[in-house]
Amino acid sequence: MNLHEYQAKELLQQFGVAVPKGIKVTSQQEAVEAAKELGGPWVVKAQVHAGGRGKAGGVKFVRTLQDVEELSGRLLGSTLVTHQTGPEGVPIHALLIQDGVDITKEYYLSCLVDRSKKRIILIGSSEGGMDIEEVAAKTPEKILTLTIDPTAGVQPYQARDLGFRMGMAKKQVDQLVKVVSGIYNLFVQKDCSMVEINPLIVTNDGQVMALDAKISLDDNALYRHKDTAEMRDPSQEDEREHIAHEIGLNYVALDGNIGCMVNGAGLAMATMDVCKLHGGEPANFLDVGGGATAERVARAFKLILSSDKVKAILVNIFGGIVRCDTIAQGIIDAVKEVGLTLPVVVRLQGTNVEAGREMLAKSGMNIMAADDLTDAAKMAVAAAAK
Ligand code: GDP
Ligand code: MN
Repeated sequence: MNLHEYQAKELLQQFGVAVPKGIKVTSQQEAVEAAKELGGPWVVKAQVHAGGRGKAGGVKFVRTLQDVEELSGRLLGSTLVTHQTGPEGVPIHALLIQDGVDITKEYYLSCLVDRSKKRIILIGSSEGGMDIEEVAAKTPEKILTLTIDPTAGVQPYQARDLGFRMGMAKKQVDQLVKVVSGIYNLFVQKDCSMVEINPLIVTNDGQVMALDAKISLDDNALYRHKDTAEMRDPSQEDEREHIAHEIGLNYVALDGNIGCMVNGAGLAMATMDVCKLHGGEPANFLDVGGGATAERVARAFKLILSSDKVKAILVNIFGGIVRCDTIAQGIIDAVKEVGLTLPVVVRLQGTNVEAGREMLAKSGMNIMAADDLTDAAKMAVAAAAK
């Protein structure tokens, strides 16, 4: 789950990281009031779950109240398309009205898990305010990392070393120590999967501040963080992913046209791989879980069908805990309810498979049965291509 910049900055402040003064608003009137309270100049920032706002017109430096009013009126209620959003963009429902600060230098700093090292790492760079992927591709020597020992935690000398390697002066390095320990503590205590400050700036009067902030939280740990769990903004998420979350299905929207319904995350990944191997593109990842009931299957089916990209459906179920006849009933119920017109390929194996197949065959519906996964995938790819 991702947070908005204003929420990320609230958390950073709680952990001792300095941020420019700012006020989150949701109307034009509030924007003008906030601007009066802060005193100009200001930066008006669209609050959306996407980076690259600056280049897309979602972050603007303004010097008059009139400009704040005009810009906030234009941004609120519109959608912002950045290089990270896809052509449909993301809706702007809130703005951050922030003190416009004078910048001497922009840096990059982030904290994330390095899975190969099995450690939390910090990444720093002198090339702030830019696309960090581009920096990594063009000038990899400018990407500096710091690996944290989980028992010792982050040590001040490590932070100082990183700061000097990033080219900071001593006065800034001293402040960086606080920033580094702050984001590390935030990362660990709030179960983040990423904390990114881009840019981390040095102001004209020598202050180190987080000018922008992005935080991603580990969904699997949200249950133990009521405060951050409440920060969810469904308007920024894929609608189907949101529905899936509500009903407890593991669903990820993808770009293809073959809807996949599978039980077990590993089998779901393998199903997508086999689809691609045979020239198809999955429309989604969906794991209905081990304890799927007919009702869950029906809901999952409806979720897949709610996308108009889907041209064929591939059901791949191994009946272990969940029995094949239960799955068959769920498919039949869902198809009846939504009035299915798309081709459905079903591959069932496992407990009560005979009963399940018989139910599907007798249902009178246009369902193609397949015995193994390769056949099933080929049939689905062919059906989607028609
Ligand atoms: P992003 O484009 O979504 O990453 O949004 P950012 O918040 O990082 O803003 C983009 C760029 O706008 C920053 O890299 C800065 O160069 C500039 N910017 C943002 N806020 C300020 C500010 O207060 N003062 C100045 N001078 N520039 C700013
Ligand atoms: Mn940024």
